[in-house]
Amino acid sequence: MPELPEVEVTRRSFAARIADARIRALRLGKPLRWPLGVAPETLVGRTVRDVGRRGKYLLMTLDEGVLLLHLGMSGRLVFGTDLPPAGPHDHMDLVTTRGVLRLHDPRRFGAVVWAPALDAAPAARLLGGLGAEPLEDAFEPRSFHAALRQRHASIKQVLLAGDVVVGVGNIYASEALFEARIRPTVRADRLSLARATRLHDAIRAVLGRALVLGGSTLRDFADATGGTGHFQLEAAVYGRAGQPCPACAAPIRVLRQGQRSTYYCPVCQRS
Ligand code: ZN
Repeated sequence: MPELPEVEVTRRSFAARIADARIRALRLGKPLRWPLGVAPETLVGRTVRDVGRRGKYLLMTLDEGVLLLHLGMSGRLVFGTDLPPAGPHDHMDLVTTRGVLRLHDPRRFGAVVWAPALDAAPAARLLGGLGAEPLEDAFEPRSFHAALRQRHASIKQVLLAGDVVVGVGNIYASEALFEARIRPTVRADRLSLARATRLHDAIRAVLGRALVLGGSTLRDFADATGGTGHFQLEAAVYGRAGQPCPACAAPIRVLRQGQRSTYYCPVCQRS
């Protein structure tokens, strides 16, 4: 599943090239997770101002309104001037004067949604419950610790929920908890300020490294130019059950938390 680094890598791979483009057509394929919310032809003639990001949503600001794009479980965007005809898993072609932005999404959990503004429906509802942006200054250790104090679930599941901090999905949660030497099953409200600070720093470090490495390519992630990511090759614990911990050589363990696999070192992450 594309996580924050993959979404940000995707954004960077086409945002500058699509800026100032005029929309010629919006063609939609099979239904996605949510409806567009407006007739596609009303977007014809609009200009793309820029492409930002909030959590795992790409926010394409137009001269009037904003398009929210979400990659869901299996989506990827391609941007180019000579794309082949749309295939059975291509569910959006945004045809512009600079090229075609295409959403390829076999499982169709992705979304393309229009809103008149970010603080208007449906954008306000989709973005309203999101936690802090982990790579921005507003994400800082004391408020992170204060938010964790309110949560009784395991720290891994609180990270995945996205309402304290966004974008720390399954891979990066396992990696950050390993780097901070915190057992994934420990209750969030039991973490001291010192340990929450270590986790805060680890989240930033892990996501920052993933961005530099172009994200993780686990199944078929690629950015909008077709580039693949390499973070998965650097993972210390994720996907490495039974292999030696890079710090202490104990075998990495895997457990299930809320339907998701969690990888950890039983020695380095004692509590
Ligand atoms: Zn270890």
